[in-house]
Amino acid sequence: MKDDVRKLAADFKQFLSSREEDELIPAACSQAAASFVSKNQKQEDNHLTVAFVPPGKHPAHVKIPVQPLRADATPNTAVQDIPSPQPETEDMNAKEKQILLDQIAQEIHNCHRCPLGNTRLHAVPGEGNPAAKLMFIGEGPGFDEDHQGRPFIGRAGQLLDKMIAAMGLKREQVFIANIAKCHPMINPETPESRGNDRAPNAGEIAVCRKFLEQQIAAISPKYIVALGGVASKALISDTDSLGALRGKFHILHLDTVELKTPIKIIATFHPAALLRNPNWKKDAWADLQMVMKEMGLKRPQA
Ligand code: SF4
Repeated sequence: MKDDVRKLAADFKQFLSSREEDELIPAACSQAAASFVSKNQKQEDNHLTVAFVPPGKHPAHVKIPVQPLRADATPNTAVQDIPSPQPETEDMNAKEKQILLDQIAQEIHNCHRCPLGNTRLHAVPGEGNPAAKLMFIGEGPGFDEDHQGRPFIGRAGQLLDKMIAAMGLKREQVFIANIAKCHPMINPETPESRGNDRAPNAGEIAVCRKFLEQQIAAISPKYIVALGGVASKALISDTDSLGALRGKFHILHLDTVELKTPIKIIATFHPAALLRNPNWKKDAWADLQMVMKEMGLKRPQA
């Protein structure tokens, strides 16, 4: 096995050294790159620049940081289970980030890793500015989102649009996504019925969260607003209530991606909860004002 790995490493290094810096590496070699990085991390201490070219998709350049091999790393990890490369987003422009986000979205559209993939009408990867400084993250798509494949477009989405506008921003300036990318339904046999929404369960969140984490790493926002208890617990602390998490910034820690730049996250109410309990809007506005203060945003004059 070691000889195989050494040969793979040597072949891949030779391949890289024979290429111009910006030249695209064919898709077949991205597998070799993944294997190289996962199995040969001791041998390099800098970065590899690798271009991924999924069939039928645009190419994406990413730099793969080579970390010391973890003691618990599994040498025979299947390629599809290898954590996705972490882009150095400070060096990436919006176009490059969009290419990476498109690639993640394509994976989501093809995903059936949990049962939600079998009943969804449309996967809902998320949308917005690929270089957004601010992300909003909810729990999962509902009826309208499932039907149109876009996040936060129903009544709750309209309220979120108003919240964003009150912060002095436009929806296109931020990125909006959910923890789960497919519609969690109370009754999966009736995907066409309205009011068939539920929160994603712990298993669905655990399986799906890698997509969100890849999106966060690609966008590299400065701030995240977690909308509602499910998103807040999944992203900040599953042992605290939304009430305990609200009103202060936390530093985001991800499970599958190591962030190079710290991201501040704040928890607030989900817009759907605000529609049911309008008296919570004052507290939600106070949370958003904390973000506005940090970002130097001003509420637009009426
Ligand atoms: S919810 Fe996530 S993990 Fe489950 S099928 Fe959809 S994209 Fe895949």
